[in-house]
Amino acid sequence: GLRLRDERTLSAQMLKAAHIAWGWHEEDREVLTNVNLITENILAMSLKEAVTNVVKHSNATTCEAFIQAKEDQLLLIVRDNGTFKATGNYFEKGNGLAGMKERLEFVNGSLEVDTSNGTELRIKVPYDIK
Ligand code: ATP
Ligand code: MG
Repeated sequence: GLRLRDERTLSAQMLKAAHIAWGWHEEDREVLTNVNLITENILAMSLKEAVTNVVKHSNATTCEAFIQAKEDQLLLIVRDNGTFKATGNYFEKGNGLAGMKERLEFVNGSLEVDTSNGTELRIKVPYDIK
């Protein structure tokens, strides 16, 4: 799935199968209107990897995603209430989080990971005008 809305549906199904409660919070339905397709594809891939990680690694009972436009940036947050499992440099080349970070940086976006309370990915991309 390359569109974010399709990936959102697949994420909901994956989490449901794993018995992890899911919440999607979108500040308004127009939030994706202006994002270009390559950036949207990378957001969709990021959502897929984030949710796959929640299912594979977190032992969470809930996972929530928030998407909001902030001036010239789109912010996608994916958060779970489990326990982050990696020690050391989890941005090591070749793995999922590193690939996500590389792709986001390719479109002048960024990835921050906060593992202090479950796992929270803060994914930022430019909010381009098509
Ligand atoms: P791949 O993504 O290549 O299939 P992977 O999922 O192990 O492998 P990453 O996605 O880069 O690799 O994640 C690195 C490590 O960070 C994981 O192996 C896991 O230990 C930890 N991790 C990532 N996301 C979560 C999460 N949501 N909850 C708990 N641990 C996580
Ligand atoms: Mg992974």
